[in-house]
Amino acid sequence: MRQDCPECQRLWREYATATRTHIGLEKKLRLLAPGSASDKLARDVASAATVRETARQTIHEHEVATHGGAAEVADGNS
Ligand SMILES: [Zn+2]
Repeated sequence: MRQDCPECQRLWREYATATRTHIGLEKKLRLLAPGSASDKLARDVASAATVRETARQTIHEHEVATHGGAAEVADGNS
């Protein structure tokens, strides 16, 4: 990300938040006994994954459109 670009910083913050949300929900899902997860939780995990993927895509598009190149977007699990 570019430290001097406010939009990059904003997008990366959103991505970080989406990643935390996704990982948190996945962890919750994993801790449940198999088969006991509610449909709602499963849906929440799926939609959090979509939000995360969309945020990553948005960063990529911003990089290409604004900075003329794509930075490698780390997976963000660390
Ligand atoms: Zn930028």
